[in-house]
Amino acid sequence: MDLKSKIRVIEDFPIEGISFKDITTLIKDKDAFKEAVDKFVEDLKGKNIDYIVGPEARGFLFGAAVAYVLGVGFIPVRKPGKLPGETSIDEYQLEYGTNSLEIHTDAFEKGERIAIVDDLLATGGTMLSAAKLIESLGGEIVAMEFLIELESLNGREKLKNYYTNSLVKYD
Ligand code: IMP
Repeated sequence: MDLKSKIRVIEDFPIEGISFKDITTLIKDKDAFKEAVDKFVEDLKGKNIDYIVGPEARGFLFGAAVAYVLGVGFIPVRKPGKLPGETSIDEYQLEYGTNSLEIHTDAFEKGERIAIVDDLLATGGTMLSAAKLIESLGGEIVAMEFLIELESLNGREKLKNYYTNSLVKYD
């Protein structure tokens, strides 16, 4: 299936000049959603993963489904003030603006093997921030998985120390 054809592109959202990739049209299509999750699982099978981490909010959609199929737990990385327990926080630059991410400090044990799943790789700032949080708690990042990669923003370069995989690419 051509997963790209299931993604709707909306110009000038959330601000002028941004060509927003809307994945709601993909996840409402049961076959496209299943194929995307299956492709992530195929790439992660055999990598001996303990947990999937998903950044809020679209990372939850794919990450939780992938974790369920792989038979591993899911750990959320959230925007500030949402997680109730003790957290670690990291601030980073977004394609449009800045953001901070938090993770529970007791989310996993040192040395556990983690794959991060998100909807989209733009500048790589979000993924790098999630990676820093995980590594600060002693986690080992085994893979970074994206539904969409915006190649012109060169996020892959920022993430060059990690294994990355994306299912759909835009120039
Ligand atoms: P980065 O941190 O610059 O790589 O941006 C990636 C993050 O921004 C992801 O968590 C995405 O959810 C969000 N994002 C950026 N651009 C888009 C878009 O066009 N569609 C959907 N999400 C986007």
